Amino acid sequence: MKPLGDWRNSEIPEEFEAVFEMSYQWNLGEAMSHFLTTMRDHKKFLGGRCPACQRLLVPIRKYCERCLAETTAVEVEPEGILRAFTVVYRVFPNQPRPPPYTIAAIRLKGADTDFIHLMRETDPSRLFAGMRVKPVWSEDRGGDIFDVRYFEPY
Ligand SMILES: [Zn+2]
Repeated sequence: MKPLGDWRNSEIPEEFEAVFEMSYQWNLGEAMSHFLTTMRDHKKFLGGRCPACQRLLVPIRKYCERCLAETTAVEVEPEGILRAFTVVYRVFPNQPRPPPYTIAAIRLKGADTDFIHLMRETDPSRLFAGMRVKPVWSEDRGGDIFDVRYFEPY
């Protein structure tokens, strides 16, 4: 077998270019279908209350990932707190909108998990963790996550 030599002195490629194109469908399942149709038809959010740990999971999941207990659907207040955010400036495939846009972790009132969505504001100097936010609903709701256009401060 030929020795490899001292690999630390060789030129090591740090990246390569590749294109992945994947078309797929995601089965929403009972809980997420319920969540999205409630947003579409009633402009309300659903969470799942775990009977074991009492956490309120938003968006609703059928089962608590900690306890594996089946959750109970409950309506959640639409207002919340901005917990974290990042502004996306780079262009890449399948973005929800042209950059810049702000991805946010939002904790709806009473929830124990964060809801990931968009903020209207894209100037990071005008956003801060802890600010109160509310959803802006789309007038043309079709049963997907963008039935909420984005969240904004109030
Ligand atoms: Zn639980």
